[in-house]
Amino acid sequence: MRMGAAQREEDLVDEGQRGFFGKFGSRIGKPRIDAAPPNLHTREALLLLQNYEESGQGWFWSTDAKGRLTYITDSVAQLMGRTSGQILGSYFTELFLPVDGHGEHQRTLPFLLTKQSKFDELPLRSAFEGDDRWWAISGRPQFDAGGRFTGYRGSGTDVTAQRRSAEDASRLALYDSLTGLANRFNISKKLDSTLAAFAQQQRSCAIMLLDLDRFKQVNDTLGHPAGDALLKQVAERLLKIVGDKEMVSRLGGDEFKIILPDVDDRGKLGDLAADIIASLSQPYSVDGSRCIIGASVGVAIAPFDGVNSDDLVRNADLALYAAKGNGRGRFAFYSSELHQAAEVRRALEEDLRDALARGEMELHYQPVVQAKTNMVTGVEALVRWTHPERGVISPGVFVPIAEETNLIWPLGEWVLRQACEDAVRWPGDMRVAVNVSPIQFANADLPKVVAKALAATGLSPDRLELEITESVFLGDSADTAQMFKALKGLGVRLALDDFGTGYSSLGYLQNAPFDKIKIDQSFVRGATEKGSRNSALIAAIVALAEALEMETTAEGIESLDQLDLIRKLNVSHVQGYVYSKPVGNAELLEHAEAGSWTIKPAGPARQRNDRFSLFRKVGAVHDNHRYDVVIRNLSATGAFIEGILDVPVGTQFVIDFGEGQLVTATVRRSMKHQQGVEFEQTMVSDGNGGLCTRHRVSPYLIAAATQSTAGMALPAFTTTSDWKAA
Ligand code: C2E
Ligand code: MG
Ligand code: MG
Repeated sequence: MRMGAAQREEDLVDEGQRGFFGKFGSRIGKPRIDAAPPNLHTREALLLLQNYEESGQGWFWSTDAKGRLTYITDSVAQLMGRTSGQILGSYFTELFLPVDGHGEHQRTLPFLLTKQSKFDELPLRSAFEGDDRWWAISGRPQFDAGGRFTGYRGSGTDVTAQRRSAEDASRLALYDSLTGLANRFNISKKLDSTLAAFAQQQRSCAIMLLDLDRFKQVNDTLGHPAGDALLKQVAERLLKIVGDKEMVSRLGGDEFKIILPDVDDRGKLGDLAADIIASLSQPYSVDGSRCIIGASVGVAIAPFDGVNSDDLVRNADLALYAAKGNGRGRFAFYSSELHQAAEVRRALEEDLRDALARGEMELHYQPVVQAKTNMVTGVEALVRWTHPERGVISPGVFVPIAEETNLIWPLGEWVLRQACEDAVRWPGDMRVAVNVSPIQFANADLPKVVAKALAATGLSPDRLELEITESVFLGDSADTAQMFKALKGLGVRLALDDFGTGYSSLGYLQNAPFDKIKIDQSFVRGATEKGSRNSALIAAIVALAEALEMETTAEGIESLDQLDLIRKLNVSHVQGYVYSKPVGNAELLEHAEAGSWTIKPAGPARQRNDRFSLFRKVGAVHDNHRYDVVIRNLSATGAFIEGILDVPVGTQFVIDFGEGQLVTATVRRSMKHQQGVEFEQTMVSDGNGGLCTRHRVSPYLIAAATQSTAGMALPAFTTTSDWKAA
């Protein structure tokens, strides 16, 4: 007998986990149990119940016909902040919060009770303040011998822990545990379903892929916890700008994806991308350390750049890659040309490995001129690569490739050595400035390499100036200080390059031993624009530099009005086309022969803004006829077209820039073979100094149009090719 009871108790406890009490309730009335001698059996059952209640595994309740509590396990009443005595008599339903039914697919408790239905493991939330427990409640209606309803008897178990872990699991499955943003799985499901629905409705949807610049550096130098803290702040900033929490996701690492339904305006998307980049590039405070990172953004828009998520994401990725290749901290839109560009880049990477050995690298030198006297005090060495097939390639293109492939180290070493070698042979004591990549700066061997170049060539150290960009301050500050000390110890000069482009902080200047600050050309250009505060900032930089006994150089000065402004602002040196483009060593020697070299500034009176001298073949459609034309001097508001003869002023064309980029243009000036046209809708920035149309013609429309147009009409105008043929 005891054995049997003990065994049953074990059973009960076991089953209790899975809601035994529902079954227990029904078992109470079973004939097998009733068949045992009544008093012995009742005592045993009561003991069992008591044991069970005390074990904390579950509890019991009963109500009268009106639903008022007639029994509740005391320990549970206490969990609810009462004694059972206090609770008895109150309505059972009052113990629980009403369930909103959301996602539960369940009848509510009051409904079940009034229907006198039995129920099993109904999940309910405790209504008592401070008690956010969940209960699984089971109940059976009771009837007297006459079949009248007398109330309920039932049981409950605490399912809070299971419920929490289920919630956690579903959150983990969909959200990034670090930032709380949607995770990769979640966002790709969302993109799939959005695109599928939108394709039917012919709606557009943009995505942005975002990658942090220099995040790895922060992670490596400040440690992973700091990296995590930084990512959280990035997520917060992103949410602030984008707003829609569900559409922003972290894919992993430092990659993020944003879905922007119903947006296809590239003007708006460009503005949004620029806002995101600007916001993420503001300094962060992490564990008391200040750090700065950047961001690059790739944008692709459905249906123009792909209708399914695979294509769209691949193309956004390509755009992101292009944005990074363009110098980071930028955005880029996808265009089909990028596939080709990515190919070219891969090929360049291959060729770059052999370029040095093949003698394809060369240094050019651009004069740095004293603003007051027009005297050349030094030159900056700028590396040039003449590719056997592709011709001259800009360092803006191949230096980043070299940085990514570790080729920057042999390249940098060669530049240093070559610059010193050339400089030693120059008459006079002109200085030579050499650009040092942050990757070189991060290598503890740099001072040795510099010392070797000086020793091997015999150049006096004070004639060598190393140009460093602010990004070196992103690394470990102790290492940075050590490096500055070692370089200064060699007696070389240090210049801060591209000031005003990145994370400029005047704070750096006070501690770093710079001899010169080079103010970036974008900063100076901005200064000549109306309402710009750059002039005031340049004045402040100059004042600070003077106080710290540093020189200043304004870079990229092209026009006389800029030179004027720079002189007024007391910037000490100028480097730019207004004095000279970079020249080869032979040409430099010719000029510098006399031992001193002065240059008379020459250039346009003022900077012509935003004109791109572009020679690009496009289509011009008039009266259903398409002409091939070449476009020149493209600006946001207009361009020149060449290829059609004698077009009357006022004629309207639709210019087809390709890939669905159509712009209505009106001829405002007409020479024989060239027309100046004005665009009806201004073009917008493509993120890389170029222009693109705000909107594109949807591929759906193009498909519909090609089906319905029977053919093109006869030309209304003669073209230059007809003219040449005649
Ligand atoms: P940077 O150090 O800021 O060099 C100035 C750049 O501005 C040069 O471009 C120069 O040709 C250009 N520039 C000078 N005056 C004007 C002007 O009036 N108008 C315009 N539009 N541009 C002007 P470049 O030679 O294409 O070099 C680009 C960048 O590539 C350099 O920027 C530098 O960061 C990097 N670079 C060049 N040579 C080396 C090198 O040997 N090593 C490393 N690590 N980087 C290099
Ligand atoms: Mg430079
Ligand atoms: Mg510069």
